[in-house]
Amino acid sequence: MSEGSTGGAPRPRPGITRDTAFFWEGVAESRLRIQRCVDCGALRHPPGPACPKCASLAWDHVEASGRGRIHSFVVVHHPKVPAFDYPHPVALVELEEGTRFVADLVGVKANAVEIGMPVEVEFHTPAEGQTLPRFRPVTDAG
Ligand SMILES: [Zn+2]
Repeated sequence: MSEGSTGGAPRPRPGITRDTAFFWEGVAESRLRIQRCVDCGALRHPPGPACPKCASLAWDHVEASGRGRIHSFVVVHHPKVPAFDYPHPVALVELEEGTRFVADLVGVKANAVEIGMPVEVEFHTPAEGQTLPRFRPVTDAG
């Protein structure tokens, strides 16, 4: 039994800054970009102005494969924010590249989510001009 939807309201839009614009420009093209330190090569997410390993301000980005495994997750029940369906699984995904990424999890019942489950990114468009990454379990059937 579903706990019901509070859908119908528009999804909140992400805050975009100069540090995160490259990421959202990638998402708009269905690409998952990870910030990379030019000086030491460390990957980091979420994006920020300085490298936490070497403090360099020089960075570029790489394109992630979009594949990873569930490192941890929560199932949100309350408070019910309009535009989301509940129960609402949210995963901390460890990407193949080694960085971790928080996003919605779809395609699996909330009580069937497991640590270590292989997942893959997909991009959905809840509203015109708004593309968001989310993850879905990878099935053997492909
Ligand atoms: Zn660095």
